[in-house]
Amino acid sequence: MRTLQGIGASEGITLGPAYIYLPQIPVCPRAQVSDTAHEERRLEAAVRRVEVALDQLKAELERELGHEEAAIFDAHRLFLSDPAFTGRARCLIVEEKINAEAAVEDVMAELRCTFEAMQDEYFRERGMDVVDVGRRLLRELMGLPHPSLQRLPHACIVVARELTPSDTARMDRKKVLGLLTARGGKTAHAAILARGLGIPAVVGAGEGALDIGQDTPLILDGTSGVVLADPDPDVAADFEERRLGLQQQRDRALAAAHSPAVSRDGRQVEVVANIGSVEEAQAVLDAGGEGVGLLRTEFLFLDRETPPSEDEQTEAYRAIARVMRQRPLVIRTLDTGGDKPLAYLTMPAEDNPFLGRRGLRLCLAEPEMFKVQLRALLRASVDGNIKIMFPMVATAGEIRAARRLLDEARQELAARGEAYGHPEIGIMVEIPAAAVAADTLAPLVDFFSLGTNDLTQYALAADRTSNLAQELADALHPAVLRLIAETIRRGHEAGIWVGVCGELAGDPVAAPILLGLDLDEFSMAPGSIPAVKETVRKWSHVEARRLAEGTLKLDSADEVRRRVAAAS
Ligand code: PEP
Ligand code: MG
Repeated sequence: MRTLQGIGASEGITLGPAYIYLPQIPVCPRAQVSDTAHEERRLEAAVRRVEVALDQLKAELERELGHEEAAIFDAHRLFLSDPAFTGRARCLIVEEKINAEAAVEDVMAELRCTFEAMQDEYFRERGMDVVDVGRRLLRELMGLPHPSLQRLPHACIVVARELTPSDTARMDRKKVLGLLTARGGKTAHAAILARGLGIPAVVGAGEGALDIGQDTPLILDGTSGVVLADPDPDVAADFEERRLGLQQQRDRALAAAHSPAVSRDGRQVEVVANIGSVEEAQAVLDAGGEGVGLLRTEFLFLDRETPPSEDEQTEAYRAIARVMRQRPLVIRTLDTGGDKPLAYLTMPAEDNPFLGRRGLRLCLAEPEMFKVQLRALLRASVDGNIKIMFPMVATAGEIRAARRLLDEARQELAARGEAYGHPEIGIMVEIPAAAVAADTLAPLVDFFSLGTNDLTQYALAADRTSNLAQELADALHPAVLRLIAETIRRGHEAGIWVGVCGELAGDPVAAPILLGLDLDEFSMAPGSIPAVKETVRKWSHVEARRLAEGTLKLDSADEVRRRVAAAS
């Protein structure tokens, strides 16, 4: 028996034979050429073919996993039109008179080095994206088949040096019991996809993982990151028992997910989902979601040359409302800014885009574009139980300004003779100022939804996208919990309902605290619904309240976790 220690990247225990996947790296021919125009044309044609292939991959993945996971292929497509990638390859062909393959290979190597030298783990992982799209282009130029995990001989644990997004997007999911990679971190796409698919995964286990022989029996624990090769029979039996236990626990939670979440002493909370595309709506209902607590509408606005029309938006909102029937559907107005620029708006570069013209601020600065969205929302809410939510609100003045535009949008529809609904209007409480002054904002709206992802980064001054500040950006920190508690209390005093739509709502550790703080609505990734509902059912509201009050007085997120564990 051999033990390997990697990074647990996707939870769960799995047992099965190893399938060693080490695709040949294309060895590309290098040559000096005289007809550089011909090489440029070859490159151009290969780029077009790769674009078509990427669009196909994206569509397949989107159907299965939703917009966010599939968006990786948008990034790949952008590389193809990036001056630093194909633009530079074209220059090399002309300047150095080399063939297209050699030019692509050189650019790929340069860019990979640039990414891998970066401090931030997330950016380092993006080097893999360059390699993925670069190799795809090379194979296309050389007429080579693309390696794939599409046809696996039997159920297995895939062992690879690293897995590209293309490898994981097309693999035969029914046969993949687990993933083990020698390289990569938690933010690698293989890891993200494995979590989305619920496949246990261990990454970064070191080159030793590649010495495992084909079909060697493996045990992989995606929580602790431990992998056992050729396990002793009694160890294997022990793990199999644990795997079955976890499986039964998950099956039970899923079976019960379609019943409401009611605490032992009868307090019912609403459990709904966060989505970012039309395709994900059905997954909400399948997972036991009682509606949508956050529809991120950025998917309609990003990666295009012109803004979406009123009709296009209306149709997208209606399509989701049709799936939800009369269940609540909270639609957040556009939440973008300097960090996610829109090609059709001039947005000045900002040093701190997260503190700049983002979310509602941008929409108020672009009232005509904003009103198109508001009219679409008002039209779609004729048939659905739609609620409109404004993101990134800091002041009461912003809410008043947004409501004025909403009134104008209504009047414009009335003047056109168009029918419109009367949706509830709410705000995201994700800036500490809004939480602290919640009593002044509550009379202006019908609900609050706490965006704990941003609330945490702003409260602790810990950039949510930086790996260096990851440990600090913990929504269970008592300072953040106090802001949440205060917002709920002030909201209730004003007679409005309060939800959480940040990641915290889907964390079973946070569930009893949020129950104890009297939260009305929990909105989370569809996959988290069964476990959170199960947790709520285990607690009584009275006990949860006692626990919550205690956690507010602690001084670290770790202590909060320990307190919850001790009380569970
Ligand atoms: C949040 O900030 O908690 C939130 C839900 O919004 P987003 O993650 O889209 O910023
Ligand atoms: Mg936010």
